[in-house]
Amino acid sequence: MAGIYIHIPFCKQACTYCDFHFSTTFEAYRMEMIDCIIQEIVSRKSSLLDQEITTIYFGGGTPSLLLENELNAIITTIFNHYNVCENPEITLEANPDDINMKALQIWKNNNINRLSIGVQSFDNEDLTWMNRAHRSEEAIQAIQLAKKMNFLLTVDLIYGLPNSNLEKLEKNLAKLIELAPEHISCYCLTVEEKTVLHHQQKNNLVQLPEEEHQAEQFLMVVACLEKAGYLQYEISNFAKDGHFAQHNSNYWKMIPYLGFGPSAHSFIPPRRRWNVAANRKYIQLLSKNEKYFEEELLSEKELLNEAIMTGLRTIWGFDLANWQTKTQIPKDFYTQINTFQSAGWIKEENGKIILTKQGKLRADYIASELFQL
Ligand code: SF4
Repeated sequence: MAGIYIHIPFCKQACTYCDFHFSTTFEAYRMEMIDCIIQEIVSRKSSLLDQEITTIYFGGGTPSLLLENELNAIITTIFNHYNVCENPEITLEANPDDINMKALQIWKNNNINRLSIGVQSFDNEDLTWMNRAHRSEEAIQAIQLAKKMNFLLTVDLIYGLPNSNLEKLEKNLAKLIELAPEHISCYCLTVEEKTVLHHQQKNNLVQLPEEEHQAEQFLMVVACLEKAGYLQYEISNFAKDGHFAQHNSNYWKMIPYLGFGPSAHSFIPPRRRWNVAANRKYIQLLSKNEKYFEEELLSEKELLNEAIMTGLRTIWGFDLANWQTKTQIPKDFYTQINTFQSAGWIKEENGKIILTKQGKLRADYIASELFQL
């Protein structure tokens, strides 16, 4: 079992908080970019040794900016060169302003069966501050249209925004719950370097909520979504009726994947590699058949740390019993587990270490304390 990720590094405009790899001036080289992504897909076809591809994910950037022929060329290349299973989950990240009947039909025709819609907020003031290209009304209409066309849906929401409070967040959640996507991802706003938000914060132009208020908002997200029937199966991810994101769940379970396009990461344990995060450089290097990526071999300890970090964030937990059969776990680890268990932050179930509700508030701290240096 394995996954494929394709990074589409184009966006209409830069969102205030975003540090993903993308360019807003891409028209001059978009064809070359698609050709190079296709070249990369073909050139790495033997990397997975015929493993079955069960998930394909178009991320970005903004994959909903792909033209019909571009999307079709990428999908066809993948199906022609990889062992894709019968009913793969194929997700495309789409911004609400790109969603209309014509686009939905094109995506349907190209086997896309799941859309990840970047809504972020239903409040137009928030959207203006974020410099999003859509309005709240467009997001509502986009979700309704996509539902009509029978796509599985996941919707992204951001909390912890400047001027946010529990009342505004509750309204946002209520709107989202009313629209009833199968899956919801809720992230707390974080300040990343080299973003507009970072500049604003450095110059005291923006006031973000204190950590305790962010925690309150997180607890409200969990409470509202659980009440509405969503299961929090990963710290930031919620699903109804078992509609977990298969592609992302496979990342957390450390299942191999190949990433194509500038900045895309690949992971075939114990090897991780990442492509150059510069559009023209990526095109230049691929065109000359030169090396366009860096890679590293993860040690057993690094793999263990990765498993702790990703496993703890999910309802499946960190599979201690499994790791005990593969590697020597030091005594300190068990001492730390006992401490966190006494604090009520973790529990052990059938050899798996799982975070409690209180533990989820401290997930990063707990993982870092359990890391093996
Ligand atoms: S949040 Fe999405 S749409 Fe906005 S700049 Fe980042 S990648 Fe582009």
